[in-house]
Amino acid sequence: MDEKSLNFLEEIVEADLASGKYKSIITRFPPEPNGYLHMGHAKSICLNFGLALKYGGKTNLRFDDTNPVTEETEYVEGIKNDIKWLGFNWAQELYASDYFEQLYQFAVTLVTKGLAYVDDSSSEEIAKQKGTPTQPGVNSPYRDRSIEENLRLFAEMKEGKYKDGEKVLRAKVDMAHVNMHMRDPLMYRIKHTHHHRTGNNWCVYPMYDFAHGQSDAIENVTHSICTLEFVPHRALYDWFIEKLSIYPSHQYEFARLNMTYTIMSKRKLLQLVNEKHVAGWDDPRMPTLAGVRRRGYTPESIRQFCDKIGIAKRENLIDVGLLEFCVRDHLNKVATRRMVVFDPLKVVITNYPEDKSEILASENNPEDHDNPGSRDIPFGRELFIEREDFMEEPPKKYFRLAPGQMVRLKSAYIIQCNEVIKDGNGNIVEVHCSYVPESKSGSDVSGIKVKGVLHWVSASHALGVEVRLYDRLFKVENVSIAEGDFKDYINPESLSVLPNVYAEPAIAGATEMERFQFLRKGYFVLDKDSTKDKLIFNRAVTLNDMWAKEVSK
Ligand code: ATP
Ligand code: MG
Repeated sequence: MDEKSLNFLEEIVEADLASGKYKSIITRFPPEPNGYLHMGHAKSICLNFGLALKYGGKTNLRFDDTNPVTEETEYVEGIKNDIKWLGFNWAQELYASDYFEQLYQFAVTLVTKGLAYVDDSSSEEIAKQKGTPTQPGVNSPYRDRSIEENLRLFAEMKEGKYKDGEKVLRAKVDMAHVNMHMRDPLMYRIKHTHHHRTGNNWCVYPMYDFAHGQSDAIENVTHSICTLEFVPHRALYDWFIEKLSIYPSHQYEFARLNMTYTIMSKRKLLQLVNEKHVAGWDDPRMPTLAGVRRRGYTPESIRQFCDKIGIAKRENLIDVGLLEFCVRDHLNKVATRRMVVFDPLKVVITNYPEDKSEILASENNPEDHDNPGSRDIPFGRELFIEREDFMEEPPKKYFRLAPGQMVRLKSAYIIQCNEVIKDGNGNIVEVHCSYVPESKSGSDVSGIKVKGVLHWVSASHALGVEVRLYDRLFKVENVSIAEGDFKDYINPESLSVLPNVYAEPAIAGATEMERFQFLRKGYFVLDKDSTKDKLIFNRAVTLNDMWAKEVSK
């Protein structure tokens, strides 16, 4: 058991189990299938599934598909895929739409009890009747219809006798209630719209407030956890359950996840997709699970992140750097090491025979102490190093390559720069070096100590690949409070493509499942846009320290 103190929901669950209120718990994750899941949903998933796992309960996946206008089957499949990828299994796959008949019967029960009525007012009139937080509302002229008339009209609504918006069913609570949500809230509206599962069977659809709590009760959900904006809905949640005398599920609220430099709203993310600000829901810059997966983030790192940020009762803004920290932390443990040169400078080893090449070995993952693995790296007379790793006139304490200076090539030899070759315009075209044959990594008997270690590739063996580097999607920290249209804050430099970089040949075997550390460059994953002729890699995250300790050998 972990030693962290309990969050407030764990405290509630432990108390409920200790008091015998419940023998075991049931939670649910209730996405509306109107978009792909984002990091905020990941937090809710980790919370709901995590509680059930920790306390031996179960979690249902319930699609909250009561709004036929915005929902699609594509999203249902995407959501299931994302939850499985995060590493969770639901007890049952359920749909609020499967309860349409039951919910309708619940509504009839309330009408029969004189607790619901059919209202012919327009939505504008209903809004006017509502009053304000400081002023009580006024009763609708239809509020006192007889139970018989209400039953008949509600049945006719269901049968399709009326057009959209012509009538609604409202709960009869109290138009002067201090909580605006209790002022005769809507229960049903008419929508002559095809539903992704029930087709054209229904033309009346329950509102969120009437569907959600009743669905929880049908499933005997013990702890129904949602985000803070639903606090004012709780009174209504309890009212329906009480008046219907159904299973007493309870609603609890926690602070939604907000992250710096991004947005967490399906509606806004959909705009980015539709207006082509990004390449799709799975664009690696998106905070969607599809996006971060394509970017190379791992489920382990996302779960660790959700665990670290904890569960708050007040809105806050989490630094995206913390997520990146978790990604780095996990990838450092699992990533396969490769050498890739982004901006090549040719190095000619003048004392290495022209027709010779040799195969050196390098560890795939020195962090994996049980099974570091190893791969072959060809070495030859002509190499590429990073242009920024050479300086003709270096400052003091510059430990990379410079005229007369020595460096180690990672997993290979120590070289010394003897000559700089320039074109007619004074641009450096290549540098000529000599290598120290006795300095081979692993069997170095040269006695020479150097401070700089560079990554490199053999020019004749290197593979041309594309890399895509990502920056924050938005230019401002807190997009949700920035004035005006959130799209005005999109970072125009969030993607840079390097179409031709040089990778060591072992990269050829890359799969989308594998994560890589390109030495000194960051963590990468193969992108789905790759072809046989051109491999494409996304950078998940940069390295913490561009001089990471592991290149020091
Ligand atoms: P969005 O505004 O992005 O559409 P939503 O809340 O409408 O979000 P749902 O599909 O209704 O999305 O949410 C499913 C579950 O995920 C709900 O229980 C909701 O409270 C939770 N959830 C959604 N966004 C966040 C968030 N940013 N942080 C934590 N939980 C969230
Ligand atoms: Mg919603």
